[in-house]
Amino acid sequence: MRPIPNHARVVIIGGGICGASTAYHLAGLGITDVVVLEKAQLTSGSTWHAAGLVGQLRSSANITQLLKYSVELYDKLEAETGQATGWKMCGGLRLAGTEQRMIELRRAATTARSFGLQMELLSPKEAFDLWPLMEIDDLVGAAFLPTDGSASPSDTTMALVKGARSHGVRFIENCQVKGIHVQAGRVSAVDTVQGRIGCEVVVNCAGQWAREIGALAGVSVPVCSMEHQYMISEPIDGVHRDLPTLRDPDKLVYFKEEVGGLCMGGYEPDPIPWAVGGLPEDFAFQLLAENYDHFMGLVELALQRVPVLGEVGVRKLINGPEAFTPDGNFILGEAPEVENFYVGAGFNAYGIAAGGGAGRALAEWIEAGVPPMDLWPVDIRRFHKHHADAQWVRARTTEIYAKHYTMSWPMEEHESARPRRTSPLYDRLKAQRAVFGEKMGWERPNWFAKEAEPSVDQYSFGRPNWFEAVGREHRNTRDHVSLFDQTSFAKFMVTGPDAEAALSWICANDISKPPGTLIYTQLLNERGGIECDLTVARLDEGRFYIVTGTAFATHDFHWIRSNLPEGGDVQLTDVTEDFTVLSLMGPRAREVLQPLCAEDISNEAFGFGSTQTLTVSGIEVQALRVTYVGELGWELHVAQEQALALYDLLMTQGAAHGIANAGYRAIETLRLEKGYRVWPGEVGPDHTPLEAGLGWAAKLKTSIPFLGREALELQRTQGLKKRIACFTIDDPDTVLWGRETILRDGKEVGWLSSAGFGHTVGKFIGYGYVRRRSGVDRAFLESGTYELDVATRRVPAQLHFGALFDPRGLKIRC
Ligand SMILES: Cc1cc2nc3c(=O)[nH]c(=O)nc-3n(C[C@H](O)[C@H](O)[C@H](O)COP(=O)(O)OP(=O)(O)OC[C@H]3O[C@@H](n4cnc5c(N)ncnc54)[C@H](O)[C@@H]3O)c2cc1C
Repeated sequence: MRPIPNHARVVIIGGGICGASTAYHLAGLGITDVVVLEKAQLTSGSTWHAAGLVGQLRSSANITQLLKYSVELYDKLEAETGQATGWKMCGGLRLAGTEQRMIELRRAATTARSFGLQMELLSPKEAFDLWPLMEIDDLVGAAFLPTDGSASPSDTTMALVKGARSHGVRFIENCQVKGIHVQAGRVSAVDTVQGRIGCEVVVNCAGQWAREIGALAGVSVPVCSMEHQYMISEPIDGVHRDLPTLRDPDKLVYFKEEVGGLCMGGYEPDPIPWAVGGLPEDFAFQLLAENYDHFMGLVELALQRVPVLGEVGVRKLINGPEAFTPDGNFILGEAPEVENFYVGAGFNAYGIAAGGGAGRALAEWIEAGVPPMDLWPVDIRRFHKHHADAQWVRARTTEIYAKHYTMSWPMEEHESARPRRTSPLYDRLKAQRAVFGEKMGWERPNWFAKEAEPSVDQYSFGRPNWFEAVGREHRNTRDHVSLFDQTSFAKFMVTGPDAEAALSWICANDISKPPGTLIYTQLLNERGGIECDLTVARLDEGRFYIVTGTAFATHDFHWIRSNLPEGGDVQLTDVTEDFTVLSLMGPRAREVLQPLCAEDISNEAFGFGSTQTLTVSGIEVQALRVTYVGELGWELHVAQEQALALYDLLMTQGAAHGIANAGYRAIETLRLEKGYRVWPGEVGPDHTPLEAGLGWAAKLKTSIPFLGREALELQRTQGLKKRIACFTIDDPDTVLWGRETILRDGKEVGWLSSAGFGHTVGKFIGYGYVRRRSGVDRAFLESGTYELDVATRRVPAQLHFGALFDPRGLKIRC
């Protein structure tokens, strides 16, 4: 046996499709000093027993692009490597058995169109013509993606292996990784049963074992193994090789052709986690015991659709375990805990579909040290500490698995494993009929129900049950004053003698302002893309307080830490859980707050964009005069133990001024009217401040260097290829949720990144980028006539420049 190398630039752990694809793409980038270590044999994990359906459409444009790339790759891989892949572009059908499901399909068709993916809507009869074995009496319609297909998972993986090998990548089987060495925060070596390999980069593609592999390096990888079953029938007359794949979400099942018969699998409403007590290390090329009892529910549903399945025998029932995640998206990228430790795992039973694109993205990420594009839905930095809790992960993952084929509603919240993180006001707000949502584990009031209203979300593609309540909170904020519990904001302290210099480098805006100043800024990558969008409060010379979005706690902390210039005397600390944030917002905010505090908070004494320490009836509060709703107001940051007392004081004092609780869904409708951007919708790594209309917040007029400056300057001279734009529609019955296609003079030019109803302007509002290869300027924007494609229906839309509400910002500066 050839000895293992002493050193490799990149060590990939796991010889499934993800490890093979990452190796293949690294080799393609010229990184060939790569070894792939497999504890058993290549493909012996989940890959060998996958059914092999390859679908492409996801709710994010970039993740759809990854899956589209998988298809392009599989289409040419056999010719390139000489290794058969079993790939066939047979198309994919998706059925709608209810009107609601049909709306979901129409919206999906619009999303597909936005993302450049072909998807046709079909009548039941047209679907039948493509798939004559099915019953269609109950069908409302269907959708067909002609470029979807299926592949042989093992063969495709072996083709990737062959391609990588031809460039010099080494695959070593029977080589279990037992330990990972980390020195000064970076990986340095792996220990295997065959010895140690020094390395610069480790890539954890260990499938269901990714959690355990992560733990060897102190990295949390929230995957959970779940049982997943499908059956293969005896051959059936009429089932041919090119039969499209078929997904019937109302019946929870999928089908594909398999050697003249049908492969049928699905997602049970009561999924079964596997190996709760710990994964067996020696599990390879194995299946779990067939569980007919559990599968029978799916069989009954499948027979309703394809009765002929009941007339043939079952050749096999496959029960294979697979790594699922608590949000249904896979996990990619450099771990925030350890430098040069990358993860590609947790594929939620679509790892064959994702494998090609995920491997490419991971390889490019490794090469550049940053993601090649905005990959936020799959970015490992979307997780937080509670995701290290296996029990929490299992509970949430079980819910997500069970919901795989259920309706995917706009603004849907999950129910399991809650509450996890709560603000001190949680019980108080709950008692006042708060309807909570959850983000990063935090319970956050979304809206407040009146006595007569059910205090629960009732989802709809139209106007949902919270529509009126949110309108109430919205108007109260515009007309009187509202109190928002925004405790979940991520908050960091940056301190030290070199704090200003360090922040000056990573912030696009000028932070060299006097203590007491608030600075809204973006943090850019080298491409000028917006990695973070946050507020910096300068508390004193060497102390800066950073406030950013709840979901970005890990991401933004990691970005800041990784980009602080080396050698400086700067400390970065996460203080999120130290402070509660009460946001007092509305024209009467000052009337509520002033009588409670000794300090003068007049506009002259406490202007917009500044911060002061106030004493509110004896409670010390860091008050930030800032707003995300477009009104006079303060964010009051207060020690957790004082939060309830402050809340009671404000509510009592505010009673005479019409104060009321308000939630996150009102924040969303209020900010849309003001045109405030949200990360990662209107702002994100793929968008620069110039494209996002935030050029004013970059210190380009100064000569101060900052990360991303060169890219912005270049873009300024070259012109923009896309620009953010605001649209409204007049039709009150058309509801915008986001991802609707933007048409300019009848041609697709982009899609809405976010949308909602503006209760003051009385219209649905959407924001999205208008794109054109040859450039987009104001004249181009102004000269077009716009429509939005909403669930495949075209609706006239008006383009706007500037905020729809209080465009001159007078209300926030008074
Ligand atoms: C029943 C079933 C049906 C499926 N159907 C489909 C489908 O139709 N379409 C689709 O796209 N996807 C499908 N999937 C999902 C697909 O199989 C997986 O998402 C994919 O194979 C995951 O690939 P991977 O490389 O991440 O993991 P794996 O294939 O599991 O590879 C991980 C490898 O890491 C190795 N390893 C673990 N620990 C160590 C260690 N310490 N040292 C060295 N090596 C180690 C393992 O031995 C394993 O080979 C299905 C899955 C199941 C279970």
